[in-house]
Amino acid sequence: MAEVRLEGVTKSFGGKTAVRDLNLTVEDREFLTLVGPSGCGKSTTLRMICGLERATEGHIFFDGKPVSWLPANKRDVSMVFQSYALYPHKTVRQNIGFALKMMRVPKATISEQVLQAARTLDIEDLLDRKPRELSGGQRQRVALGRAIVRDAGAYLLDEPLSNLDAQLRVLMRAEIKRLHVDVARTFIYVTHDQVEAMTMSDRIAVMRDGVVQQCATPEEIYERPANRFVASFMGSPPMNFVTGDLADVDGIRTFRAPAFTQPLHVDADPADPAVVLGIRPEDITLSTSPVAGHLPGKVFVSEPLGPDVLVTVRIEGELIKARVPTPFRLGHDSTVYVGFNPSRLHLFAAADGTALH
Ligand code: ATP
Repeated sequence: MAEVRLEGVTKSFGGKTAVRDLNLTVEDREFLTLVGPSGCGKSTTLRMICGLERATEGHIFFDGKPVSWLPANKRDVSMVFQSYALYPHKTVRQNIGFALKMMRVPKATISEQVLQAARTLDIEDLLDRKPRELSGGQRQRVALGRAIVRDAGAYLLDEPLSNLDAQLRVLMRAEIKRLHVDVARTFIYVTHDQVEAMTMSDRIAVMRDGVVQQCATPEEIYERPANRFVASFMGSPPMNFVTGDLADVDGIRTFRAPAFTQPLHVDADPADPAVVLGIRPEDITLSTSPVAGHLPGKVFVSEPLGPDVLVTVRIEGELIKARVPTPFRLGHDSTVYVGFNPSRLHLFAAADGTALH
């Protein structure tokens, strides 16, 4: 059992605050991902949980017990690093078993546990090879094997897929997700890749400038982003944003912006009418003939994605991206009519980007 709780955790390096007043509970056996752009404080958070960094303020608890003062080797955690950190002169078997050897676990038990980890990761036939004789994906598995051979309460993974090519990343993504199910332990995973975060996690904590912006399930993050930053960071291609204001037109609440020559009715009544409208590319429809309420625009560019086409449409001064099913046959500069699914609109305060639910 390993619930990991951070209470008011701040980490400063000299004058720079890397993580600010972080409050987060990772449930036992949960897969929680810390995601955000480079430098937002993800790795620092993981390193504090692991015991490689000490928090400047605040406390960390494992199953309710304070661990802030415990060194890394006394915490019930196992970490996988981005670099794999395999010993080049040792075999896969020795690499995986090394931590157990250091813990003076009997040889027969080490053999058994190494074999067990290798079976889980499907690398039994690689046990006598050296790291240089392995592909990137195989090395990645060995690094995972080294972590899971130790029965830890929580496994901490810092960008474990970032050195792999795109195809292998997709493969290993599914394997790590399955591994989490098989080992039934708490996983805390760090990535800057929002697709990894969305596809693998029970919950996602989106970070920016050392501050958690939202911590919720992938569905909630996608459906109800807490602010404009989360809305733009999560989702591919990102959400479209149009700056405007809200006004009562003929007694109906309406979003107004130069590009919106047709009234767009919305259901929000913030104190400050200055807002940003958000709409995801997949919530936009395009038609070749005029439709009531649709905005006329011109095809700027279209990019086939296989099952879908990503079409960028210029509406007045705005470029709006729509993801529509294949085939889409209109050429550049053709007129197209853009429809927004009214139940899928997002509104954010223009002043600070907070979502207006
Ligand atoms: P990346 O995805 O690039 O690894 P990250 O989100 O993991 O980024 P951190 O590595 O946690 O970010 O770094 C957060 C901030 O703290 C950055 O501004 C970084 O420069 C700073 N930082 C991290 N470690 C140190 C250190 N040992 N000394 C000084 N500053 C540091």
